[in-house]
Amino acid sequence: MAKKTIANVDVKGKTVLVRVDFNVPLDEAGNITDDRRIRMALPTIKSVLERGGKLILMSHLGRPKDAPDAKYTLKPAAVRLGELLDGVNVIFATDTVGADAQAKVAALKDGEVLVLENLRFQPGEKKGDAEFAAKLASFADVYVNDAFGTCHRTDASMVAVPNAMVGKPRVCGFLVEKEIRYLTDAISAPQRPFVAILGGAKVSDKIMVIKNLLGICDKVLIGGAMAYTFSLAQGGKVGKSLVEVDKVDLAKELMVEGGDKLVLPVDVNCGDDFSSDCNKQVVAAGNIPDGYEGLDIGPETAKKYAEILKTAKTVVWNGPMGVSEMPPFDFGTKTVAQAIADCGAISIIGGGDSAAAIQKLGFADKVSHVSTGGGASLEMLEGKKFAAVELLDEA
Ligand code: AMP
Repeated sequence: MAKKTIANVDVKGKTVLVRVDFNVPLDEAGNITDDRRIRMALPTIKSVLERGGKLILMSHLGRPKDAPDAKYTLKPAAVRLGELLDGVNVIFATDTVGADAQAKVAALKDGEVLVLENLRFQPGEKKGDAEFAAKLASFADVYVNDAFGTCHRTDASMVAVPNAMVGKPRVCGFLVEKEIRYLTDAISAPQRPFVAILGGAKVSDKIMVIKNLLGICDKVLIGGAMAYTFSLAQGGKVGKSLVEVDKVDLAKELMVEGGDKLVLPVDVNCGDDFSSDCNKQVVAAGNIPDGYEGLDIGPETAKKYAEILKTAKTVVWNGPMGVSEMPPFDFGTKTVAQAIADCGAISIIGGGDSAAAIQKLGFADKVSHVSTGGGASLEMLEGKKFAAVELLDEA
């Protein structure tokens, strides 16, 4: 399913419309607290500018209610981009497809960048409205999707805009290309053994991922609170652990389907309170005393999982092994992160908490790929096809 990338398009003198993901976190005063998403788009942006094209960037930010809201303006993102692209003229349009945007598109010169105001200030974005999309499409000669975090959505900028540009190049940016390369290509023909590690709060969020990965992995290791729903399914005692009683039958099904591919914790670090300084006990899985809750995989499980990872050639990890934001219950997550960093396998880390753990431990350079999209990366691991990617030009 190789898709054309922006590298395959001659952009000299062309206007290139790029859907980026500048949905950056802001503090109360509107300052950007983490500009990673802007920096991740730089390879695509620089590639167009260096080859003599002009750029129009469009993105959403936060969840405004289909109307302009100063709290969610993309202006700070445009300012930050200007700082990162030292010497490049980065212009900001105070609307998305209105008079200001139209005038600034018309005046845009080669080597310049125009950032449009938040797409979600327009009701047409979430609705996938064709009329709104046609206005955006009319701005440019080339469409680029470099917004991986939004690829599982069908918003206008992701689907209706490229649909309105049939006949013009519609390609992926370098960030989306890398995400697809790892999250679908590496997984469809994995080097074996292929080991997945899935954790996090709820089994319900990851049922389809577990199902899909059980079909292609050699081992699927389970951690996090979702392990206690499996414990219940085995008739174990889970104390006051976080469980999903209505998912017990499903957990039973997955255990039958997975057989010995599905690996569950053998021990649990539990506490009598959801706090760092609670009374703690390490017990065998399925033996959590009343009044206690499981907060991390136990040391035997951590050792066992690290051992399995040692020989892995491909690893996918999504979700922490315990309450990783609350030491000492970050032990299992740290042990797994270390084992992945050490094993030398092709390693793909899902967005969210596992990506944060890898960054915090300084292992980001030791893994092959840290995904930028939480929901999108999970859906790719489920084996889903995204309309926003499918419609792009084939290589
Ligand atoms: P997710 O978003 O599904 O990947 O879940 C991440 C969240 O799961 C984190 O906030 C963890 O604190 C939480 N979590 C992981 N293990 C446990 C546990 N044993 N008990 C309660 N919460 C947990």
